[in-house]
Amino acid sequence: MASLSNSISKGLLHSPELYEYMFETVVYPREPELLKVIRLITSNHPSWCLMETAPEAGQLIALLLKLTNVKKTIEIGVFTGYSLVLTALKIPDDGKIIAIDLDRDAYEMGLPIIKKANIEHKINFIQSSALSSLDEILNEISKSKVTNDNRGRFDFAFIDADKVIYQKYHERMLELVKVGGIIVYDNTLWFGTFAMQEECVKETMKPNRQHIIEFNKFLAADTRVQISEVPMGDGITICWGL
Ligand code: SAH
Ligand code: CA
Repeated sequence: MASLSNSISKGLLHSPELYEYMFETVVYPREPELLKVIRLITSNHPSWCLMETAPEAGQLIALLLKLTNVKKTIEIGVFTGYSLVLTALKIPDDGKIIAIDLDRDAYEMGLPIIKKANIEHKINFIQSSALSSLDEILNEISKSKVTNDNRGRFDFAFIDADKVIYQKYHERMLELVKVGGIIVYDNTLWFGTFAMQEECVKETMKPNRQHIIEFNKFLAADTRVQISEVPMGDGITICWGL
């Protein structure tokens, strides 16, 4: 019988060359031009020039949106709009995205692309702290007359903001996203820092590292969702709501 350590997959993409091969053959050729432009614009961001969603993870998210016929979605953490634009390009013309971020300036960096792509009508950008916005949405729903019909009104959610409260977002999302809907969390492998000795991890990375460790443990035990951790980009966890 194979020992446990032998049966643990070591993953394929150890070599930068293999990674580059994947990008050059599969990811970049199929990445919409406007998303390339967003990456370019983001590279001029004064402090966070590499914060957008990884293109290969974006490609998987786009596939999920199509596979599950997503029409209504919610995004927490918009930044310059890479994940927002890829989502808006995939949902139908009468689809809707509620997109929440504290930072309007970053959103406005990508806004010319949103206008050019003719997808602005699908987007409701809310400048706010995400948790208070989500609670407002949930309150509105519970006050409305058709309370139960309105719960679970989103087909999909992408969570990519402050990692400290992913668990709180998760509880709200389980109410907002329909049964059989999908919730995706970004950065769940936190720059590979879980495989480093603690003393080698930069101080600035440590707080979120700890929060994500706790979140991953929590999700692994959460029987309300089916989950898969996908080691693309900085790690995305896909949850399917039971
Ligand atoms: N999904 C984006 C990247 C998001 S980066 C892309 O593909 O480009 C994380 C974003 O979360 C930042 O823009 C930051 O302003 C936002 N953010 C951080 N804390 C937040 C909070 N409490 N509420 C709302 N947005 C928050
Ligand atoms: Ca991210």
